[in-house]
Amino acid sequence: MISSENIIFKDIYGFDGCSLAKSEKRGDWHSTKSLLEKGSDWIINEIKASELRGRGGAGFPTGLKWSFMPKVKNKPHYIVINADESEPGTCKDREIMRNEPHKLIEGTLLAGFAMQANHGFIYIRGEFVEEAKVLDKAILEAYKKGYLGKNACNSGFSFDITLHRGAGAYICGEETALLESLEGKKGQPRLKPPYPANVGLYGCPTTVANVETVAVVPTILRRGASWFSSLGNKNNTGTKLFCISGHVNSPCVVEEEMGISLKELLEKHAGGVIGGWDNLLAVIPGGASTPLIPADICSTVNMDFDSLKNEGSGLGTAGVIVMDKSTDIIKAIWRLSKFYKHESCGQCTPCREGTGWVMRSMEKLIEGNADVIDIDALKNVCDQIEGHTICGLGDAAAWPVQGLIKHFRPEIEKRIDNYKNINLKAAE
Ligand code: SF4
Repeated sequence: MISSENIIFKDIYGFDGCSLAKSEKRGDWHSTKSLLEKGSDWIINEIKASELRGRGGAGFPTGLKWSFMPKVKNKPHYIVINADESEPGTCKDREIMRNEPHKLIEGTLLAGFAMQANHGFIYIRGEFVEEAKVLDKAILEAYKKGYLGKNACNSGFSFDITLHRGAGAYICGEETALLESLEGKKGQPRLKPPYPANVGLYGCPTTVANVETVAVVPTILRRGASWFSSLGNKNNTGTKLFCISGHVNSPCVVEEEMGISLKELLEKHAGGVIGGWDNLLAVIPGGASTPLIPADICSTVNMDFDSLKNEGSGLGTAGVIVMDKSTDIIKAIWRLSKFYKHESCGQCTPCREGTGWVMRSMEKLIEGNADVIDIDALKNVCDQIEGHTICGLGDAAAWPVQGLIKHFRPEIEKRIDNYKNINLKAAE
């Protein structure tokens, strides 16, 4: 379990206050100028050495991603913060923005400097009205204090931040759809390559980064890469915000060391599963798009990228959705299918047609009004969606259903049998 001196987000619950003065007292903006003076290569190398992996879901090594930006600057460079947190079960970036906004703003400055970007955009989910107000105020405070703008932090480097509110489309959390939306177009993912590091916002080199990823950067640079990499496990270092919801006694957002066991996470921070550990049915460990894991795996699995991948799931956004034995697991996954069908942007056929097909098949399975062969057909459709679409939404729609079939096929078959028996008796 994490010790208090290793916690990065000291006021994630907002008890202390998020003004600049309060944030400075907690350590934000401390010696930012001296960090900038160490140079952009030092920052990127330090982030590489920390082994920080992106906290937005994919878990790509952050320092490596930043190093993809062109070294020679013949066009403007941009840093864009993806604050469009929309993944069901995920609510960590929201807490950062409303309670510790200066961590994000300082991190954006440092990331922008590292990638020679003089302008940063924070693309915030439209529904986050209060968070946008808090961020707006915090950005103004930073300008007034000279932390942003011309000669930011007295470093000779100029850096501006623009806060942009989205309009509530899940797909705008996909980095290239986000860029399209930021440019004022319909939020639809772009074909890749080219990747944003070469052709991003307004056709210029751009890095899109998650809120949590960027917000931990100032602390890593101040405390050192070796401090961060000493926490967690090899290749899964540092601390992480976990969002725990569903059938637990005390749902919460909590910072913990990477690699904590799922059981310890739920019991120490969320008051345990309602009705006790034996009442656990399954957990979706990383936001709605990650495949569920059944109770027996939950008892032993650790919460990091590699451990969950080895179990056929993923850490994703660390949005942990807990389901006890009162859950209709088929209906729960159908609800996710309905969500992805609704949010598909419709550009590519496997996703546009497949998500609707999956949702309708899942709807039949809730009652059991299907044949056993339909389970294989459903899996087949999911397999054809996965990996065959422009963006990850297709995968996200397929994975929960694939996970359901993998772990709960007997339950689906039982429901089909029951439905047949009931109808047979009624006919007799
Ligand atoms: Fe749009 Fe779905 Fe294709 Fe992504 S996978 S581009 S959401 S149709």
